Amino acid sequence: MAIVEVRHLTKKFEGNATFAVDDLDLATTEDEYLVLLGPSGCGKTTLLRLIAGLEQPTSGEVLIGGEPMVGLPPRARKIAMVFQSYALYPHKTARKNIEFPLKASGMEPGDRAKKVEWAAELLGITRLLDRRPRHLSGGERQRVALARALVREPDVFLLDEPLSNLDAKLRATARDDLKQFQDRVGTTTIYVTHDQVEAMGLGDRIAVMSEGRIRQLGTPHEVYHDPADTFVATFLGSPPMNIVERDDVLVGFRPESLLPKGVVEPDDDAVSVPFSVHRVENLGSERHLVGTVSGIGADTRVIAMLPSTVSVEVPVDETAEFVIRGADLRFFDKDTGGRTARRRL
Ligand code: ADP
Ligand code: MG
Repeated sequence: MAIVEVRHLTKKFEGNATFAVDDLDLATTEDEYLVLLGPSGCGKTTLLRLIAGLEQPTSGEVLIGGEPMVGLPPRARKIAMVFQSYALYPHKTARKNIEFPLKASGMEPGDRAKKVEWAAELLGITRLLDRRPRHLSGGERQRVALARALVREPDVFLLDEPLSNLDAKLRATARDDLKQFQDRVGTTTIYVTHDQVEAMGLGDRIAVMSEGRIRQLGTPHEVYHDPADTFVATFLGSPPMNIVERDDVLVGFRPESLLPKGVVEPDDDAVSVPFSVHRVENLGSERHLVGTVSGIGADTRVIAMLPSTVSVEVPVDETAEFVIRGADLRFFDKDTGGRTARRRL
């Protein structure tokens, strides 16, 4: 419903030597699901709090729907924020928790009740409305927190690691729920996480952050397959992109791109790589082969990833011929780590 834009946004906390948010530019599109992804301490929460008005910038601008926001208190911005901790009132029922912001804004009881029912319906928590938070599971609490944010009908949702308190299995279902919820309400959402799986699964686009800056903004496909620099290349992917040094350039390739000869159909630029496997990790759905390559980037530790459907024997501590297709090679500048033009190896 509204585009969120920040321009030259900077935040330096008093007493800190570095910038939490460093001259950052970012704009969502209308109704976009934008994910901020980056390691702990890179400035994600600070950026969200600056957009929400919970923090004042050192300099720069925040615009929501084209309107300048800096100086306006949080409640004057049409945003709703859901925190990691959900921050539900423990002594209030789910219903009272969801109703609270409406009550605070002076809405009539009848209208409030309708609004709560509507949000509860949308999030599938109608039967839980009379329970207190301690009688709800983590996933249910998260939905109550979302419902409380939703009743205000914000133009923008700001979600700060809302799934991080859930166990892995619940996280996967909660992620699906969140995605469906967003598809239905269609509100511009900025979602913060340090979890790349969440980012890849939820984001229309992902802004990969480090040290208060955005390293790359792109679709999940773009940031994964066309990383702007070695930081993005190695932050995404599990295992991350292999980076080896060759002459004056860094060569990157994904573990799934290094495959035994014969398994992959080489293209014109394909490189043949003698690969000495030291260790095999069998994860069921895939095998990770940990070893060193000698053709490019002599003796650099790399990982090849074979799907379980590739059943070739890989002898340990022997050198086998592996292949990387030219189209799967990425090149980075040795000094800056930034992407450089492709070349022949
Ligand atoms: P993230 O959410 O990505 O983990 P944060 O935005 O919380 O990162 O923090 C970014 C940087 O700002 C960190 O170095 C953190 O220590 C610092 N920081 C965050 N909040 C404050 C604060 N209130 N006072 C001082 N430093 C802070
Ligand atoms: Mg944070």
